[in-house]
Amino acid sequence: MQAHTPVLIVGGGPVGLALAAELGWRGIACTLVEQGDGTITTPKMNEVNTRSMEFCRRWGIADQVMNCPFPGDHPLDAVFVTSLFGHELGRVIRPARNDQTPEPHSPYRLQACSQIWFDPMLAKLARSFPSVRLHYRHQLDALSQDADGVTAEIADIETGKRHRITADYLVGCDGAASLVRRSLGIEMAGQGTIGYPINMFFRAPDLLTRSGRKPGTFFIPVDRGGVWGNLRIIDPINGVWRLMVDAARDVTPETVDRAGYLRRALGRDIAVEWIDVNVWRRRSLVAERYGEGRVLIAGDAVHQLSPTGALGMNSGLGDAVDLGWKLAAVLQGWGGAQLIGSYDSERRPVGERNVRMATSFYQDNEAFMHRSPALDDDGAEGDQARRELGEMLERKVGGEFRTLGLQLGYCYENSPICVADGTPPPADDPATYTANARPGARAPHVWIGQNKSTLDLFGRGFVLLRFPGAPDAVALASAAAARRVPLTVIEVDQPDAAAIYARRLALVRPDGHVAWRSDDMPAEPGALIDRVRGAEAGSA
Ligand SMILES: Cc1cc2nc3c(=O)[nH]c(=O)nc-3n(C[C@H](O)[C@H](O)[C@H](O)COP(=O)(O)OP(=O)(O)OC[C@H]3O[C@@H](n4cnc5c(N)ncnc54)[C@H](O)[C@@H]3O)c2cc1C
Repeated sequence: MQAHTPVLIVGGGPVGLALAAELGWRGIACTLVEQGDGTITTPKMNEVNTRSMEFCRRWGIADQVMNCPFPGDHPLDAVFVTSLFGHELGRVIRPARNDQTPEPHSPYRLQACSQIWFDPMLAKLARSFPSVRLHYRHQLDALSQDADGVTAEIADIETGKRHRITADYLVGCDGAASLVRRSLGIEMAGQGTIGYPINMFFRAPDLLTRSGRKPGTFFIPVDRGGVWGNLRIIDPINGVWRLMVDAARDVTPETVDRAGYLRRALGRDIAVEWIDVNVWRRRSLVAERYGEGRVLIAGDAVHQLSPTGALGMNSGLGDAVDLGWKLAAVLQGWGGAQLIGSYDSERRPVGERNVRMATSFYQDNEAFMHRSPALDDDGAEGDQARRELGEMLERKVGGEFRTLGLQLGYCYENSPICVADGTPPPADDPATYTANARPGARAPHVWIGQNKSTLDLFGRGFVLLRFPGAPDAVALASAAAARRVPLTVIEVDQPDAAAIYARRLALVRPDGHVAWRSDDMPAEPGALIDRVRGAEAGSA
């Protein structure tokens, strides 16, 4: 293990791996230490959302996700049932990958791709960059920092050998129990623990066929006890399922009545091959700070949220992408002194928003109690009760599956490195994304050629988009060059793109967020470049 690394990443879950890949993609040297061996037997994450798919597109792995072993003809529908073998109450349609119509606002729609496949894709991507080193079975034991760098004590778990490593920056992607966060004395704030779920994994290859149920991916059994759990098919080819229930605080994997829960979920006794049982805590928490000095924190280490809405890892990938270009800019010498600090200003409000929404989706589930005795009746009264209930479930509980506004509509309002243009934000509707190019927002997707999106223009450095009628931008390009800020000027002669971006000039950052837009050149191009690179005007 090298004695010095520019960036030391602690934790090789999806967020640490994504950060290693993002830095590798930018040519930045980094070392990742992960205490485990990289094997995932029972996955947590199963849904890679639209924004994360856009990151995957830039990294070149979107096709791998699209071709993952989750079958392309298996619908992703979320289905409300009295039990898997019982009556169907309602269905949120989410077409199979092969049947997905193009999403107008993105090259992709959300994909089912379990962590058992996704994490290895990220690891392979990270390893493909010569500047990235991954060390499994290595654990961070302690860290300290001063103005010049960070020192970390790392133990090789196999040999017991200890390494002292110095780094310019350390990023803790070390999950909910984060040693990195605790070492900095950073507290988590929020509601705390809001549930005591149990995940029970089993193999039952022909279960869906035997149930006679029209296929789906996520089944929510609702009985007279209300919404009490869910069944997810993780790997349809191998028949791997997860039954999740909210149990009592003191239930353990040994004491849980898994056969009883399974009977309730299926509506009958079916023999399955049990794989594993995990107990975990459903939390609603955000860190008070996302780092300190040269130590930053990302992913579950800073936001812990209910999986309702599938926002956990997907939020963490957003952290990694925000942090990646900023670390690269500073290490390459063109990022200003305030750039790293803007990570907290930009990502913590997004963490708070996503935790708040995930908790609210969970509360929609929890609050849902229906006591109609007719629910199981085969007659007209039962049909009526089920129809009414189904419509209510689709409308209320189904909200957690309609989240495009959450996925794409986050905006770095009040960011110190974006220049607000005074336009009001669109309504922050979790379900609906309103395309807009306000400073701080994700620069919108528009097709600009055969399988070519505006998103494909962004990534390597800043991009100045010039729409028809834009003034000459040479002074801005010169100001960037004088500060060694990578900037490319691109002409976009397309009315639909010009209409969405709504200004003749739009400056887009390496992470694909708009930093500034205007119809006119700024009075002081140098000051604008300084602002967006996180430097005081005129500083190095
Ligand atoms: C049931 C369930 C379903 C979910 N479904 C989804 C979903 O569909 N979509 C979604 O986006 N999110 C989902 N999530 C959330 C998602 O799984 C997490 O948000 C995500 O795994 C967080 O990734 P991470 O890399 O931040 O942390 P983790 O996955 O917890 O990884 C942290 C890593 O750090 C390592 N580590 C810890 N301490 C040290 C140390 N001292 N030294 C070295 N290594 C260390 C750990 O071994 C671990 O591998 C779900 C969660 C649950 C519980």
